[in-house]
Amino acid sequence: MNTAAAHHRSPVTIIGLGPMGQTMAAVFLDRGFEVTVWNRTASKADSLAAKGAVRASTISEALAANELVILSLTDYDAMYAILEQASEHLSGKVFVNLSSDTPEKAREAAKWLADRGARHLTGGVQVPPSGIGRPESSTFYSGPKDVFEAHRKTLEVLTGADYRGEDPGLAALYYQMQMDIFWTSMLSYLHAVTVAAANGITAEQFLPYASATMSSLPKFIEFYTPRIDAGEHPGDVDRLAMGVASVDHVVHTTKDSGIDASLPAAVLQVFKRGMAGGHAGDSFTSLIEIFRKPAS
Ligand code: NDP
Repeated sequence: MNTAAAHHRSPVTIIGLGPMGQTMAAVFLDRGFEVTVWNRTASKADSLAAKGAVRASTISEALAANELVILSLTDYDAMYAILEQASEHLSGKVFVNLSSDTPEKAREAAKWLADRGARHLTGGVQVPPSGIGRPESSTFYSGPKDVFEAHRKTLEVLTGADYRGEDPGLAALYYQMQMDIFWTSMLSYLHAVTVAAANGITAEQFLPYASATMSSLPKFIEFYTPRIDAGEHPGDVDRLAMGVASVDHVVHTTKDSGIDASLPAAVLQVFKRGMAGGHAGDSFTSLIEIFRKPAS
């Protein structure tokens, strides 16, 4: 990257050098940005310093270096642990917090920083480190639109930027909704693989079938989406009574295989609450009504 091109790039501070922060810093350096880094465990900055990053020796130094500060930490508690030590250096800074946490934590952090004269953008990165530096990857952002627009180009060096709105909680909410789908889906996969193994079927043998089922899900989601938004759950293509029998078969197949059945048993419980709630003839999507009334 030549120096003239680098002048168009606003410098950035990155606090937190786990796998994510390290990759982000390396991508910025590759694109000719001036990067200042700080991490609790200082040795994690070694390879970045060798590539040209400025290693701040204190948090205050890292904050003083640049207006734009990217946080890539385990959670928001880590942010307080770090920034509380340097609260007199927060004013005027823009924090782009790419640490995962809940929408409520993001809202509290935005207020905490605003009270100290700083601005906060919440981010939810949707890819692992290997997806950083790729425009086809995506990160949710929320918070003040003017702050987002002012830094959009810089943030787009990391991934595509999907701005969700002014509420600082929105990016975290969208991120957590994706994680809700991701973890429950991946655990269902792991569970099925365990049943497969107990029956002498390897993960490799099961792979095309697991993939086919996962790949079929978007069609179901698209079909049910307008019905869900309309609050309609007709039992014309599936009935909860059929679903409960089906999940019950999964529970028994699991137990007969000598495998822990707690995951499908939890699913069965939700189906049974739907049956008890009078939804036997409705679609399984009527379970939304059950989710709306948390079990006591
Ligand atoms: P890690 O948890 O591995 O590292 C995060 C950083 O947080 C480290 O630099 C660590 O410092 C620092 N940290 C944690 N607690 C404290 C504390 N109390 N005080 C000071 N520093 C602290 O996370 P990743 O790098 O993997 O990810 C960063 C964020 O990105 C996370 O919120 C994660 O959920 C999210 N994310 C990660 C993805 C991934 O695939 N890795 C994918 C999408 C999002 P130290 O080195 O000293 O321990």
